[in-house]
Amino acid sequence: MKKRVLFLVTAVCLFLTTVLGSSQMVSAATTGEPKTGDVIHGFKVKQTAYDSSTKSNEMLFEHVKTGAKLLVIKNSDINRGFSIKFNTPADNDKGINHIIEHSVLGGSKKYPSSNIIFDVMNTTYVSFANAFTFQNMTMYPICSANEKQLFKSADIYLDAVFNPLLLSDSRIFEREGLRTELKDAKSDLAYNGIVYSEMQGSMSSIEAQSMSNAKKAVFPNSNQGNISGGNPSDIRTLTYKEVINTYKKNYHPSNSFMVLYGDVNYEAFLKMVDENYLSSYSKKKVTIDRGTQKPFKKLSKKSYTVPVAAGTDTKNKSVIDLVFATSDIKELGMDNYVALSTAIALLNMDNSSFKQALMKSKIGESYSVSFDSTTYQPSIHFMANNADPSKSNEFYQLVLKELKNTVKEGLDTELIKSSVRSMEFEEALGSDQNSALNKMMTASLFDNLMGNPLVDVSSYYRKLINKLDDKVLEKLIEKQIIKNKLAALTVSTPKAGLLEKNQKAVAKVLADKKASMAKKDINALVKKTAAFQEWNSKETPAEVIKSLRAVSLKDINVELKDREIKETKVDGANLLTVKADVDRISSIDLRFDLSHLTPEELLYLNFYSDMIGNGMATSNKTESQVLNEMALKTNTISTSVSAIMGNEDDSSAHPVFSVNYYGFKDEYADTFALVSDVLLNSKVEDVAMYGTRTIANLKADYQSQFAEPLNIATLRSMAYTSQLYRYANYLTGLDYYKFILDIEKQIANNPAEVVKKITEVRTKAFNKNNLDILFAGDESAQSLFKSSITDLTGKLPDTKYEKAVYSLPKPAKREALVINSTVQYVCVNASLSESKVPQSGKGNVIMNLLNNLLLTPEIRLKGGAYGASAAIMDDTYLAYTFRDNNYVNSMKIIGATDEFLKALTPYMTDETLESYKLSTYAAASPIVGELDDAYMQLLYHVQGISTQDRINGLTEIKESGIADIETFAGYMGKLNDNQNYVIVAPSSEINANKDMFDSIITLQ
Ligand SMILES: [Zn+2]
Repeated sequence: MKKRVLFLVTAVCLFLTTVLGSSQMVSAATTGEPKTGDVIHGFKVKQTAYDSSTKSNEMLFEHVKTGAKLLVIKNSDINRGFSIKFNTPADNDKGINHIIEHSVLGGSKKYPSSNIIFDVMNTTYVSFANAFTFQNMTMYPICSANEKQLFKSADIYLDAVFNPLLLSDSRIFEREGLRTELKDAKSDLAYNGIVYSEMQGSMSSIEAQSMSNAKKAVFPNSNQGNISGGNPSDIRTLTYKEVINTYKKNYHPSNSFMVLYGDVNYEAFLKMVDENYLSSYSKKKVTIDRGTQKPFKKLSKKSYTVPVAAGTDTKNKSVIDLVFATSDIKELGMDNYVALSTAIALLNMDNSSFKQALMKSKIGESYSVSFDSTTYQPSIHFMANNADPSKSNEFYQLVLKELKNTVKEGLDTELIKSSVRSMEFEEALGSDQNSALNKMMTASLFDNLMGNPLVDVSSYYRKLINKLDDKVLEKLIEKQIIKNKLAALTVSTPKAGLLEKNQKAVAKVLADKKASMAKKDINALVKKTAAFQEWNSKETPAEVIKSLRAVSLKDINVELKDREIKETKVDGANLLTVKADVDRISSIDLRFDLSHLTPEELLYLNFYSDMIGNGMATSNKTESQVLNEMALKTNTISTSVSAIMGNEDDSSAHPVFSVNYYGFKDEYADTFALVSDVLLNSKVEDVAMYGTRTIANLKADYQSQFAEPLNIATLRSMAYTSQLYRYANYLTGLDYYKFILDIEKQIANNPAEVVKKITEVRTKAFNKNNLDILFAGDESAQSLFKSSITDLTGKLPDTKYEKAVYSLPKPAKREALVINSTVQYVCVNASLSESKVPQSGKGNVIMNLLNNLLLTPEIRLKGGAYGASAAIMDDTYLAYTFRDNNYVNSMKIIGATDEFLKALTPYMTDETLESYKLSTYAAASPIVGELDDAYMQLLYHVQGISTQDRINGLTEIKESGIADIETFAGYMGKLNDNQNYVIVAPSSEINANKDMFDSIITLQ
């Protein structure tokens, strides 16, 4: 199933990662591991467990002196992880916890770099570094494939959270949070700050605003309704003092929970944590306000307006959110928590009779049911998007009526039974590059919500499956939703022109403030602004950069496995196999070459693929049966129309239809029966239903992309030079959006014609003579697989077609996209081959230097944008900024990369360059699971990239020298001369520089 709206994913991810991610836990009795009550380096063992699916020994420690908790998850995963989290409910909407999260990573006593998080990411051997603010906790996770570097990184994070420079330097708060700037006495006063920019972007979609409105409505007297990330208008009122007070309240070992994950020597680690940090603290009582909200006497009804630009179409564009909050999760209990999240997932299935009834109502365009369990009282949201605001009462009545119906008729629980099977898939697949992060996040969330990180979710899940016949899910829907008095009906409606009005109001506040300032205050602020930028320009001292690093390049011996790829013909199809050292499980990718389809046919086929992704019946099976069998046999089947590069300089590419899934080796015949049925027999004739549903979901998807348009903008800028991205842009960007709007009308007017077109293109697309079958698995699986291929090819025609000749639309060289938000985006692109710049691993090292020493300091730290980055991918050079506030300035900085490199060369030392090479190397050689690694090699192979090519790329990284910086200064000059760009900004900002653009497109 495709994930639709971004925030729904965060709301349900707890359910997905825990319920499907862990497995039975039993008390560990493994010899050699400590027992409950043992004390090791000041930590007492509180509880032990064994997780059989990940083969992990889990030990929960409590630091005797401070009460700090630390969970060790010890297993054989070499992608190790560390995290620390604090319980941090938000007291208001000022984003204090979020700004603290950013600010503590702005340097510490032991590591006095004012840019520590970027220094760690860009100069050390880590595989992941970030931090997250949730509703009730702030978490700092970091991962590395090297144990020494992980321990060093943990030391950096611990020093950051316990000894941050923030405490003594308010400039860090001003940079990360908010400041008032005055460039010179004549300029206007301006607000600036990274989180301030970030949240303007984050709160810009109506979905995001409606979600926070609904939370406010259902938690009116509780901290659980506060916006933990911060509301821009409230951030403007925040002071440094408030930040420090909140920090002092929460950032104490007694309020902390740590996780150490992977193949680690935890005893040495416990010693370090105790001696370097915890031992100097004593226990402190920290009370967490869980913000319990009492039920209402009657349904609360609230309306809100959402600012959008003048001229925006606002008819039937409201969001209706009917929200229910349960009792505190501790009272609710794990049984009910797991059951309720399961019931919600079932109601949200597009084929549930509940969802079908909502769709029939035409109150809105698309609907979702989601479960948010990041609050202490989990909440359930029923949402209608692009809705008629006058129909909110009707929506409320309908939801209740249909829920009562569901309780009476019973939920379709077949899918739940089959999804137990996904645990089997997980187990067979083993750990991957996300395992460390997932495990740490799940444990932290459960510690935060339940006070117990060792909750064995899967045991509750298995219990639930055995009780489904007792109607537990239906009883819960009755109690927690239908009869629940803690409920609110909210309507958020866009108001055209309010965006500009609000901006003017902010400008007036600033103008009034300046008018009231004495001349000497004005001069002082000008001075302060200049001094602030000077401080911000300071580079991290070389010895600090060196101190972040625990290993050198020579210690890293990641070797790419060179696997033999065998290519044979089976019944007209091309079979490519590679050996993976796994048991039972295999990875399968069926790729149909689509060079014979016209661009229009590609769009129709893409739409067919999206309908399959949204769930369809076939002529042999109901939709439920199809979904069930997919879960049982393949974990999930994903289909897509994409393209692969035809040659190294990206001057040609061709489209493919790809069907991707996992299979167990005793079941290939069965999975082929399912896959061919889905591909060839999905019920296109019911396009009125499946098509309409898919369009509604796609439109909601585009709507959130228009609020966060970085993806659309990068695709368009890259499509200017790259044939590969021209396909990607055509198939997933604005051209496809236009097609969706078009086909919506066609389905309404002449559905038979749409059915005919899709059926024709389906017949034309799937032939045995244009099929590459990619298979990764062990040797016995390979031969079993090969012998069952005719189960698929036997059903495919063998018609031969001429190659289609066409050229896809190319975006303008200098393009503007107008959006409904106050933030801006920049994408600058150039082709390496057209600029006569060779492709080399050295380019990646240079990008790393530019990111850490130029783009981040100038555009993020000084400019106040949320982010800026540059990258070289194959033949494409791309530099971009996001949630920016001054695209003209950012373009100038991006255009000066050549001069910057030239100026940098004399100051660079081999020692410092080594750090940059190390982190480039880590990014270029990620640790992936055995099966995925084998499959990736097949994918490289079909693109004409050999293992030797990849080894060469890594060697080039290792061999980069100072002289290369100078060489690349010349290359960057050529790339800058050849650049094309896409700028995204509100219309006033675009109109102010109209001459910069050949084309202006409004996103809506
Ligand atoms: Zn942030």
